[in-house]
Amino acid sequence: MSKKPGLTVLAGPTAVGKGTVSTYIRDNYPEVWLSVSATTRAPRPGEIDGVHYYFKSKEEFESLVAAGEFLEWAVVHGQNTYGTLKSTVKQAIAEGRSVLLEIDLQGARQVKQALPDAQFVFLAPPSWEELVRRLVGRGTESAEEQQRRLETGKVELAAEPEFDHTVINDDVRRAADELVSLMGLTPHPR
Ligand code: 5GP
Repeated sequence: MSKKPGLTVLAGPTAVGKGTVSTYIRDNYPEVWLSVSATTRAPRPGEIDGVHYYFKSKEEFESLVAAGEFLEWAVVHGQNTYGTLKSTVKQAIAEGRSVLLEIDLQGARQVKQALPDAQFVFLAPPSWEELVRRLVGRGTESAEEQQRRLETGKVELAAEPEFDHTVINDDVRRAADELVSLMGLTPHPR
């Protein structure tokens, strides 16, 4: 029987499918309070400000950093900046909600420093070969780019022992149900 932690952090290697698992949870588990991150990335079609992300300009993001408003923040893939706002997360934890953060590894390490009592879950691929398949994609990348992604994937996979639990993303629904159980909630019957 797992305890019911207030805060659970889900992280894992690039291309493992964290976004798909958290979207499944957003759509199927309204009892989970899924944190909405701030980002400097432009919205993709269908993304709504305040629902999928708080979309910020670089200047707005920088002033939030300077004001100490972030629990964690990081530049992801050397491109855009993403961060979790302290105020909303702390309020949700104080209200006794089951809070889930879906963030990158750098962010997870910062949360571990700030809130060591949180639960850290690593989302892993079913195998290294499957991660290679997801990372390399449709073969549209150059050989150098593929090599760079594989090196990154190897380094990211090596972070697994830093986490309390590993969930294997073999099937999105199964992985989401396992994550919800780790959060001390009851998975929905199929
Ligand atoms: P995307 O742009 O595809 O929505 O997300 C790209 C990456 O940013 C994913 O690996 C996701 O985990 C990460 N990410 C999203 N929100 C945050 C956040 O608040 N903090 C950190 N550190 N990473 C985040």
